[in-house]
This record gives sequence, C-alpha cells and structure tokens, in this order.
Amino acid sequence: MVVKALGMLSGGLDSSLAAKILVDMGIEVEGVNFSTGFCVTEHSRNFKDEKEKPLRPNEALRLAAELRFKLHIVDVSKDYLPVVTSPKYGYGANLNPCIDCRVFMFKRMRGLMDQYGAQFMFTGEVLGQRPMSQHREALKIIERDSGLDGLVLRPLSAALLDPTIPEIKGWVDRSKLLALSGRSRKPQMAAAKELGMEDYPQPAGGCCYLTDPQYAKRLRDFFDYNGKPALTQEVVLMLKVGRHFRVSNRLKVLIGRNERENNFLKLYEKGRHVFEVPDYSSAHVLAEIRGDADPEIVRTVAAMAARYSDASRGTRVRVQHRYGDVEEQLEAEAMDEETLAGWRL
Ligand code: SF4
Repeated sequence: MVVKALGMLSGGLDSSLAAKILVDMGIEVEGVNFSTGFCVTEHSRNFKDEKEKPLRPNEALRLAAELRFKLHIVDVSKDYLPVVTSPKYGYGANLNPCIDCRVFMFKRMRGLMDQYGAQFMFTGEVLGQRPMSQHREALKIIERDSGLDGLVLRPLSAALLDPTIPEIKGWVDRSKLLALSGRSRKPQMAAAKELGMEDYPQPAGGCCYLTDPQYAKRLRDFFDYNGKPALTQEVVLMLKVGRHFRVSNRLKVLIGRNERENNFLKLYEKGRHVFEVPDYSSAHVLAEIRGDADPEIVRTVAAMAARYSDASRGTRVRVQHRYGDVEEQLEAEAMDEETLAGWRL
C-alpha cells in the first residue's frame, strides 16, 4: 500500500525537517503552503528595497523542489479574515489568534487530504515551542475542533506524544520520529545536520505579522477607528506598507519608505488625499481624512510631507495636495520629530 501524507509546510527549518523524515521513510509526501496574507517573508519578497541583498525564493517551493514532491500553494487570505477578527480562543501576546488559526488551517487540510488522497497530515510543530498553540492541551483542542483526531503526525515531537493512527497502523516507523520540545532551535539544527540537510532557512522568530507588536498596534488602531467587520484583504496589505501615523480620530497618514512602497501607495490614491513635494525627491504621502479636509488638517499633512522630502530642515517647500481632480499648492516646513514620534503606529 502506498502511504501518502500531506504536510502543512512553511519551508522553515521545522517543517523542512518533518518532511525530510517522512520522505526518508519512503512515505509519499505532498505539501500545502497556505497564504493567509499575514506572512512576513512573502511580503518582504514584494516590498524590500531594491538596494537590499536579494531574498530567497518561497521556502516551501524550494523545499519541495529539493525533496522532489508536489507542493500546493493555497490562498486562504479572504476566508481567513474572520479568524483574525473573531477568534473563539482569543489572541496571544499580540493579535495572533494561534489556536483558531491552526483549527482553520487543519480543517482546510482535512478537505485537501480527501482531494489529494492522503491518509494523514503532518506538520513541523514542536511541543512547547509556541506558547499559545503548541502546548499539549492546545494540540488536542486543535485536532478535535478540526475533526482530525489521531490523523496529525508531528514528526519532531511524536515520541513525546500519544501514538497517532499512522503510527498505530504501522504506516510510519515511530522509532524514527523525534522527541524534541521547547523553544531552542539547536536540536533541530543538529537533526538537520544528521539527516544531511544543509540548505534550509536560518531559524528566525516572527514569520507572521500577527505576532509582530508594530503590526498588531496598527491593526488594533484599525479595529478601534473602523471596527473589526471593516477588515479586508486590502487593509491587511496596507497595514504592512510604509510608515503609519494616527494623528487624530479624523486623520491617519501613510508615508512610503522606499521606491517600491511609494509606487505601491500610488495605486491606492482613490478616496485618499495625496501630498507630494514636487521640487525635491520625496516620499509618497496618503492621508485618510474623515469628514472635510479643513485647512489645519491639510497644513499638518503638508508638514509631514515636507519632513519626508530631501529638502534641508527649516526650508519652506512647495507641497502639492490632490484629492480626486481637485488640486492645490501650499507651502510647509518639515514637521518636528517629537510630534511625529507621538503619532507613529
Ligand atoms: S503565528 Fe500566525 S500563522 Fe502561526 S499559528 Fe499563530 S496566527 Fe497562525
């Protein structure tokens, strides 16, 4: 009997190691890489400054190519929004709804297992590595709520967990599964070396924007001023791009940090006020203004635009303000750093 396992793979060290263990055992492996819209590396690939050194390609794809198995990249970013806005099990340290997130993904895996003819699924989870979703009780809740009791193999910690159906049925050799636990990545690095894996991404914390304090601050601000139901895929993306400033309940300002971000913001001018400093190299500035753009608000954003131009401090610069077809010119001096710091999200 050919045994097929479907792996939930980020392509990071842990899921790479889990896949390698099963491939070496002769199990037919296929991978699934979910795109939630909150993945840090995916975003970095699109928005890094061109001057920075090149990033690696999608790590899950690299892994699949190296171990020669099929990978399915599944975009769940739209259906994932309610997981973020109304998590049954609440949030972790930031706005990460880890337990609900795993239940959501495992339910998807359940359907995909049927679709691709896999008998069980596996992950690179390590017992105790993540405080919210990887303690023993959470692992059980996630399996139960997703209808996958006994069908989730975690090769890196399996020896510390109850035997799963694939182990009981003898599809996988339990003696070759690992007994890793805790937050240190050193044991995984040692195991990777032992299995002859050399090319894997360096373990680094923070693969998900929802665990990032700055992103969580921006998202919380969005929830406070717009309400959770207003969250869209576009908002998820906008919150990752540029500098963000909450000036008042009527004014929020977005400012590009590099050419790619400036170009991106240009695509989202509709419904927003645009500020540019035409006589100097400058960042693209968008203002979200609730109600009328009164002169005080316009002067504030113009001063912010002046600050993020190449004009020397203290210089009065010409600022162009555009809203739809209406355009005006005004003059402004750069906003001071202390005021900006108080508004920064
Ligand atoms: S860190 Fe992000 S992707 Fe990972 S389980 Fe938590 S919410 Fe989901």
